[in-house]
Amino acid sequence: MKPNGLPDLTRASVEALEGLVRYHNKLYWDDDAPELSDPDFDRLVRALRERAPGSPVLDELGASRFGEPVTHEVAMLSLDKCYGDDELADWLLDFEGRVVVSPKFDGVAASIRYDAAGQLARAATRGDGVTGDDITRNVREISDVPRRLLVAPPGPVEVRGEIFLRLSVFARHKDRFSNPRNLAAGAIKQKDPKKSAEIGLSFAAYEIFGLDAPTEHDKIDWLARAGFAPIERRVVEKGEVLEVYRELARRRPSLDYEIDGVVMKADRVDEQRRLGSTSHHPRFALAYKFQGDTGTSRLRAVEWSVSRTGAVTPIALVDPVALSGVMVSRASLHHPGYVAKLGLSLGAEVELTRRGGVIPNVERVTSPGDAPVEVPAACPSCGSELTPQGDFLLCSRTSTCRAALIGRVAHFVAAAEIDGFGERMLGELFDRGLVRAPQDLFSLTAAQLLTVPRVGDKLATKLVAEVARARTIRLDDFLRCLGVDDLARHVAKVLTRELAGLDAVLAVTPERLAGIHGIGEIIARSVTEGLRRERPMIDALRAVMTIEEPAPVAPPEGPLRGLSFVFTGKMVRRRREEAQALVQRLGGATPDGVSKTTSYLVIGDDRSDGKQSSKEKAARKLVAGGAGPKIIDEGEFEAIVAGA
Ligand SMILES: [Zn+2]
Repeated sequence: MKPNGLPDLTRASVEALEGLVRYHNKLYWDDDAPELSDPDFDRLVRALRERAPGSPVLDELGASRFGEPVTHEVAMLSLDKCYGDDELADWLLDFEGRVVVSPKFDGVAASIRYDAAGQLARAATRGDGVTGDDITRNVREISDVPRRLLVAPPGPVEVRGEIFLRLSVFARHKDRFSNPRNLAAGAIKQKDPKKSAEIGLSFAAYEIFGLDAPTEHDKIDWLARAGFAPIERRVVEKGEVLEVYRELARRRPSLDYEIDGVVMKADRVDEQRRLGSTSHHPRFALAYKFQGDTGTSRLRAVEWSVSRTGAVTPIALVDPVALSGVMVSRASLHHPGYVAKLGLSLGAEVELTRRGGVIPNVERVTSPGDAPVEVPAACPSCGSELTPQGDFLLCSRTSTCRAALIGRVAHFVAAAEIDGFGERMLGELFDRGLVRAPQDLFSLTAAQLLTVPRVGDKLATKLVAEVARARTIRLDDFLRCLGVDDLARHVAKVLTRELAGLDAVLAVTPERLAGIHGIGEIIARSVTEGLRRERPMIDALRAVMTIEEPAPVAPPEGPLRGLSFVFTGKMVRRRREEAQALVQRLGGATPDGVSKTTSYLVIGDDRSDGKQSSKEKAARKLVAGGAGPKIIDEGEFEAIVAGA
């Protein structure tokens, strides 16, 4: 990789930028021979986006010559943008009725067509708005996109939305890519659908054609019922629009996805029709964009800290600079490999960004400094030897490393929302041998706390009360506190909803977990491994905490009540999770394995491997013994649910 392979982007013409993006995109995705570092490539793409947001080259990111060209039946227009409250107020005067407000996802626009039977027929990128690329095979792998609509459509319909990456998913890739949008754009044009699926793309549906509904919010509700992941949206009076915009702007750093603004749409469809479109954009919708999240500063020092996993992590200390309205003086450098990749030196002028929910990031060096950045030779906390692992440096003795152990407790108190235990306090408690692991917090007494400098009666009592308050915890919050990779809010909620309590969560197999809608194999593996690794801590915490498990949900009333369906093999018509969700909605059960009481074993229609699964073998054995499930194919299953 050439360290400084880019010309001065501020002076380059749009044509030159487009040429560079095309060239480097091809080297990266087609030839697997990048000449630019990832941050440089991102910088190049960003420069083009800033200068020419509508450039068709931006939609070409990813493998070139991807799929067949698809002509859009209705042109995919971009949204009109506004940057000020006055422009917004003007626009609101143009129509009657309420306004639908939703986040503007920073992703890749796509169109998905379903046939009259509700079957996913074709998906395409926006392209130049008239013609896009066929991305059907990759879109079929996105778990937010139903392969078959759960609600029968009135005829063929077209769903539009944004393909994006959740930040919690992007975290797994961020040492290779510095920005979720570019990775999403590349992943959706990945030639191998399996590889595309592994990236873990999400989809936010915000538009449907072919459905006759009186309001925008009726359409969005229909999309959620049809099986699309629901998106956040508010239906408000015109006078409340600005307030909702400000609220979203405030919440932006804590969202699990990047947004670059807020989309507003006239709610009444008759008003939308009346307003119509210009040749560039619809008049009934407006994107109010956020701004000002890039800045330049000078690197003064690099601080090395040790994370709870033992990773020695560099943090840039820079001269204070305002980013998105917040003063910033510290920024992430991720790992030692990133410092090397940036070619960072002390005194360098650096470009910083603050995007979405991540802490500020050093994007690049704009002018080099004069002294090298020294990488520590031993663990800055415990002095142990460091083990290099790819771009990372790991403390070799995390089970005794002070910083790593304190980091684990710090994660726990932050996730459990126990106030008053900052890094300094945890350090004092650690050094006194009082708190070396999260479970130790629960045996902490006021008398012990009084031994810490500057802690008086009042504070000691308050801290003990804080811990006592956290002793009772909901299962999903408990899981989130454990610090297991990929077990953040969303997955913790899914586990709590799908499994019957903590024992079931601890016993779950990666296969069962991967079968749950929206989880997938990679997360399933890392979560089950993490839970196994943390088992001693989990058992210690269970002994001192009260974990509230939700009452098992009574099976809903429905036509399939009392029937159970087990699925096996590769399914063609629906994804397995979709079929399971459908059965559950109709009141049926979907156990994991076949037993004497199972009503049906549904075998997927793709029998290309010619093998019998273990579930099928078990079922056939039961049937031979005169019991067991009825064995059916996907067609028979569809007939049963259609009849129900
Ligand atoms: Zn250490």
